[in-house]
Amino acid sequence: MIFDILTLLPEACTAYLKASILGRAQKAGLIEVRLTNIRDFAFDRHRTVDDAPYGGGNGMVMKVEPLVAALESLPGQPRPRIVLMAPQGQPFTQALAAELAGLDRLVIICGRYEGIDERVRQLAVDQEISLGDFVLSGGELPALAVVDAVSRLIPGVLGGECSAAADSFSDGLLEHPHYTRPPEFRGLTVPEVLTSGNHAAIERWRRKESLRRTLRKRPELLQQACLDPEDEKLLFEIRGEIAEIEPG
Ligand code: SAH
Repeated sequence: MIFDILTLLPEACTAYLKASILGRAQKAGLIEVRLTNIRDFAFDRHRTVDDAPYGGGNGMVMKVEPLVAALESLPGQPRPRIVLMAPQGQPFTQALAAELAGLDRLVIICGRYEGIDERVRQLAVDQEISLGDFVLSGGELPALAVVDAVSRLIPGVLGGECSAAADSFSDGLLEHPHYTRPPEFRGLTVPEVLTSGNHAAIERWRRKESLRRTLRKRPELLQQACLDPEDEKLLFEIRGEIAEIEPG
């Protein structure tokens, strides 16, 4: 999959893209991430990319011409999906990451200042994506978050093919707890079942803890999750255990 990130701060993206999983995925040719500096498409002597808002007010607005020129400089066929990172966009979720992972190409526009001239939206943007209900100084972190979450879902990017499938949200639930050595630390031990070698029991424990965490931390996710009769049984047990600890 090919990602194009359009930004005024390509240098803010490079270190993260080179590190660890994303770096390896690019070396292996599983993904390609191209950074385009929007400033390279400014047309005046001063390479201006922002200007004061019509109507007055605080802050600057990213100009339409350099952004559209940057978009038009990208290979055009077949036309890639163009997304804008914006706090007003559709909240980014694992389900959206999975949908984007099915594309061959994705173009991501990072805003800065007060945001972009509205006409870029009208002319080119297919979708706006938000990282959450907060405002950052630029779209670079959100864009990297999208590239990261989407890349993890591309076959081969993660070492174990199954690791992404077990992640939180992939089946609508939060993930179970993890432990690694040592077996005891400051009096805290590892649940016995995990060292039992009984794979069926381990799977059952993990599923139950996954359900327990989701019930405790994000109960609303259970409404949407795909639960089978075995899950319902585990939830019944969990509710019983909770009632024992917190009667009434
Ligand atoms: N004035 C704008 C915010 C501008 S923040 C507003 O009120 O909506 C500058 C840029 O940072 C935005 O153009 C966007 O690209 C990016 N950005 C900030 N917060 C974001 C978020 N939560 N999700 C995605 N992008 C965000």
